[in-house]
Amino acid sequence: MIRNLSLLRAGVLAALALCGVVAGLATISEAPQAQLPPPRTMLPEALAIALERAKLPAPESFIREERLQRGDTIATLLARLGIGEPDARALARLPRVRQLRPGTTVSAEVRPDGTLVLLWFLSPRDLLVRIERLGPGLAASESPAPIATHQEMKSAEIRSSLFAATDAAGIPDAVAMQLADIFGGDVDFHRDLRRGDRLAVLYQMHTLQGRALRAGRVLAAEFLTQGRSLRAVWFAAADQEAHRGGGYYAPDGKNLRKAFLRSPLEFSRVSSGFGMRKHPFLQTWRAHQGVDYAAPTGTRVRAAGDGVVEFAGRQGGYGNVVILRHGGNTTTLYAHLSGLAAGVRKGARLAQGETVGFVGQTGWATGPHLHYEFRVGGTARDPLRMALPAAQPVPSAELPYFRALGAPLLAQLDLLSGTRIALFE
Ligand SMILES: [Zn+2]
Repeated sequence: MIRNLSLLRAGVLAALALCGVVAGLATISEAPQAQLPPPRTMLPEALAIALERAKLPAPESFIREERLQRGDTIATLLARLGIGEPDARALARLPRVRQLRPGTTVSAEVRPDGTLVLLWFLSPRDLLVRIERLGPGLAASESPAPIATHQEMKSAEIRSSLFAATDAAGIPDAVAMQLADIFGGDVDFHRDLRRGDRLAVLYQMHTLQGRALRAGRVLAAEFLTQGRSLRAVWFAAADQEAHRGGGYYAPDGKNLRKAFLRSPLEFSRVSSGFGMRKHPFLQTWRAHQGVDYAAPTGTRVRAAGDGVVEFAGRQGGYGNVVILRHGGNTTTLYAHLSGLAAGVRKGARLAQGETVGFVGQTGWATGPHLHYEFRVGGTARDPLRMALPAAQPVPSAELPYFRALGAPLLAQLDLLSGTRIALFE
């Protein structure tokens, strides 16, 4: 049984390694935005027709594409698509249309008089939804969309902020946020970033007909900061794989997840760089035994580690404050919150990364910021300088598999570093 499993894994591994190298080379040799050609034979009929029509609209009709914006109504979206009153009303009654989520791109073929010929979009479950004229009425149908996945490799150098760097390199926000999470046990992306830090990342990109749909999982990444090189490889050990889980490990198999996050402040486009514009250190750590993060009101504050709520409520100068008790003698404290997350009350259990509350300026605060304390046995410690215990490493029985799986990914990171260095010289 075990032998069979490892044979199967070895086969999958060989296939993965081959794909990885091929995809990597293809990405490097082509322009950065180049996409792999779509596998035409996999086209379901529905999409083929939709795309055929998209390319060649009947002379008397036109194709428009609009994204449902936050704050949009279905009616305003359908109006922008050029769909006239009677059809717009009929469409707005269809459950599939009423359930459209902000961010969804909707395409429509419409006649000049506003009559709908065909409307199509991708559902959150990756079904291609088509609504077309059938006699006097409209008929809806759906079929699985032919989504392809390939790997992309990008590198970036930090000049001002992480997002400025990832924007310049064409790295999607979802990947930037994953990077902040992956290295979140080692690096506080709000304070530790330095000009000249570099990152390289290999990630999945899902495409539909050669068009980027969304970024997938980061497969491997490297972060070079202040003379340190941090590398991460995605890996699912056998017991994790059964639950579709996995994690990020250093090339030697150490787990990158630590007992505590370096920063409890959620990293986002809005919160990143806020501290640089405002005053990052309202006071020094030594003066008040905590770390202050200037951040916009409402920014999510996360539990730094697994713990139980010891106090949640108002307390003098702290304003709205939450204190979590963790394993051993460690407590963490989050102050000046504008509000607490639902269910955060004394005795509640929170897992690392779960929302504690939101940044505010309650209590003695001159501007919106998070005041964060990390105490061991009641004594304040500097959370940015603590050595933190790591989660379980790759099980030793799985190390050969992990190394074999990681080798081609790390080789691609090396290739990326090499390319970059060559370019800079
Ligand atoms: Zn403070």
